[in-house]
Amino acid sequence: MLIDKYGREINYLRVSVTERCNFRCLYCMPTTPFSWKPKENLLSFEELFMFLKVAIDRGIEKIRITGGEPTLREDLDKFINMISSYNSDIDLAMTTNAYFLDKLAKPLKVAGLKRLNISIDTLIEEKAKKIAQKSVLPKVLKGIKTSLDLGFEVKLNTVPIKGINDNEICDLIEYAKELGVKIRFIEYMENTQADQKIEGLKSDDILNIIKKKYEFSQPKDDKMSPARYYDLKGGHSFGIIEPHKEDFCGSCNRIRLTAEGLLVPCLYFKEALSIKEALREDNIDKAMEILDEVLRNKPEKNNWNLEDNEISARAFNETGG
Ligand code: SAM
Ligand code: SF4
Repeated sequence: MLIDKYGREINYLRVSVTERCNFRCLYCMPTTPFSWKPKENLLSFEELFMFLKVAIDRGIEKIRITGGEPTLREDLDKFINMISSYNSDIDLAMTTNAYFLDKLAKPLKVAGLKRLNISIDTLIEEKAKKIAQKSVLPKVLKGIKTSLDLGFEVKLNTVPIKGINDNEICDLIEYAKELGVKIRFIEYMENTQADQKIEGLKSDDILNIIKKKYEFSQPKDDKMSPARYYDLKGGHSFGIIEPHKEDFCGSCNRIRLTAEGLLVPCLYFKEALSIKEALREDNIDKAMEILDEVLRNKPEKNNWNLEDNEISARAFNETGG
C-alpha cells in the first residue's frame, strides 16, 4: 500500500502519455507551447509499463490515461492492453477531448479501457471554435455517441468560463441527462499558460445558476472522485470539482506521471522528481525510491496563494489536468 506522510492512501495514478494536443483550449494552452517536445524525450510505453507494473503491485488501483490529448499517441490501444492484461481489476480510464473517438473508441474498448471522461464545454459550434480555437464540436459529439454505443461508462467534464459558456450550464445538464451520463463542472484553475483574460466560475456561481432552474439535494462526496455530487429533483445528478475549497486536498489519493517521466505529487506544488533516467537504466528499484520520495514530499494542501497573484506555472497539458 502507498501511504503519504499525512496518512492518505495513494491508489490513483494519472499518466499523461503526451503533452501534444489538437485543441488549443483557452483555459489550458491557447498559445504555448509553440512547438512540441521531441518524441525521444517521452517515455516509451515499455518504460511506462515497467513502472506501472510495480506501482500496481504496490497498491495503485486506478489508472487514468490523459495528456495533452492521449489519443494522439500512436498505439495507445497496445499500451492499454499491456495494463489490462497485467491486471484486469485495475480501474482503467482515460480523459479525452473525444475528437478521435469515432475511430478509436472501439480498439480502446477491445484493449480493455473501461471508462471515459470527456471534455465538452459548449453545445454551440461557434463557441466550441472560440474555446478550442478550432472547429471541433461535430467530431466531439460523434465521439461521445460512438463511445456510449460501444457501452463505455462516460462522464462529461465542463470548465465554466464567465461570458463564454456560463449561460449553457443548464443546457449541458439537460444534454447529459438525455444521454444518461454524469456531468461535472470543474472550477477553472488559474495557471500561467491560460488566456489571462478569462475568468472561471466558482462553485457558488455555478450552483446559483443551476438553482434558477432546478431543485437539488445537499452535496454528496464520492470516494472515487474529486467531485461533490448533487441529486436533481426529478432524477439525475451533476457534480462540481472545487479545487479552490479548503477541504479539497484532505482526501487526495492521487499522483501524476508526465510523458517525460516527472512524478508530480500535486498540481499546485512546484516540486516534482523524474524517474526517466532510472527507467532508461532499467533500474526499477531506483524509480521506486523516487516514488517513495515523491510521496514523502506530497504536500498536505495545494499552494494556491492567489492573494499574492502567484498562480500555478504547471502546464495542464503536461500534467494531464
Ligand atoms: N485533452 C484531454 C481533455 O481535454 O479531456 C485530456 C487532458 S486535459 C488537460 C484534462 C482535463 O483538464 C480536461 O477535463 C480539461 O477540461 C481540464 N483542464 C485543463 N485546463 C484546465 C484549467 N485551467 N482549469 C480546470 N480544468 C482544466
Ligand atoms: Fe487539449 Fe485537453 Fe488542454 Fe483542451 S484541455 S487544450 S483538449 S489538453
